[in-house]
Amino acid sequence: MTTTEDARIAMLNWPGVVEAYRKYLPVPAEAEVVTLREGGTPLYFAPRLSKLKEADVYIKFEGANPTGSFKDRGMTVAITMAKHSGAKAVVCASTGNTSAASAAYAARAGLRSIVLIPSGYIALGKLAQALIYGAKVVQIKGNFDRALEIVRELGETGLVTVVNSINPYRIEGQKTGAFEVVDALGFAPSHHFIPVGNAGNITAYWKGYNEYLSDNKCSSVPKMMGFQAEGAAPIVKGEIVRFPDTVATAIRVGNPASWKGALAAASESEGTIGAVTDKEILAAYTYLAREESIFCEPASAAAVAGLMKTTVPRRSTVVCVLTGHGLKDPDTAITQIEVPGAVEATLEAITKEVGI
Ligand SMILES: *Cc1c(COP(=O)(O)O)cnc(C)c1O
Repeated sequence: MTTTEDARIAMLNWPGVVEAYRKYLPVPAEAEVVTLREGGTPLYFAPRLSKLKEADVYIKFEGANPTGSFKDRGMTVAITMAKHSGAKAVVCASTGNTSAASAAYAARAGLRSIVLIPSGYIALGKLAQALIYGAKVVQIKGNFDRALEIVRELGETGLVTVVNSINPYRIEGQKTGAFEVVDALGFAPSHHFIPVGNAGNITAYWKGYNEYLSDNKCSSVPKMMGFQAEGAAPIVKGEIVRFPDTVATAIRVGNPASWKGALAAASESEGTIGAVTDKEILAAYTYLAREESIFCEPASAAAVAGLMKTTVPRRSTVVCVLTGHGLKDPDTAITQIEVPGAVEATLEAITKEVGI
């Protein structure tokens, strides 16, 4: 077989996370799987970051998922199960990415999708996605935490299925990220850096690593290193933050639903839940684009901002999850750079402008 054929077959064969990891997931054989072939995302070696930290640093780029964030991993399972149980409509509260994923998977399944988002605090790309996939978008005059309270109440009416990470199928799907890390490396990393918002993802990764350990797919589990934004760091502070505030809108959460899961992951793994400032987040965000050619969204950069100020053992293997794509939030990117003005359309003007 030629290399081209191998590549073509590898590409066509990735079936999405439910088929790839069916053995570890609670999806019945007879359920019709709703998938956009999420997962199978790249694990990049990060040469400059590795040199800086004197360790082998890898980046799991979840921006490569079909809707541009890791939320797709959980949504394929949640929507598959909602459809299988006969649901007609799904609802979620969202800082943006959950709404994009819910809208896309609901459209594929032929379900109605309703999303509640905090007015004025959702990145433009995410709002555009939810709308173009055909969700009913309700912007509320309140923050994410309030939206989630209302969604819980809506779920209790029994009229709609909640697809936030309080839906256990979301966590089940998201744990496949840990499987892919171990499958790619051949072993578990020593440290796993991850942003923490509603805390579902750190809970899911910890579950995934432990299931792989139990199944002898790896012989150790990493220290879980979760990072919140300083203005939205309830777990670090040990109390609910009533008015969370950060440039990293995807982790602008003051009362995380999986608070206990995050604490358990950090303590059982001898890791930590720490905080990073917006300034540190934006520095890591720009660094990743300039030095590693990876454009992620600000919340994702919190993981690398956390790594920047953590000492890891020399030559250890470190994984940072970059949870979402940079194009989700072009407005923040634009604030970090100087957008050039127009120059005369002459060779002379242009060579002068670029300095060659
Ligand atoms: C949802 C999200 C997070 C936070 O994940 P939690 O599971 O809520 O902790 C971080 N980054 C991005 C890009 C997200 O969409």
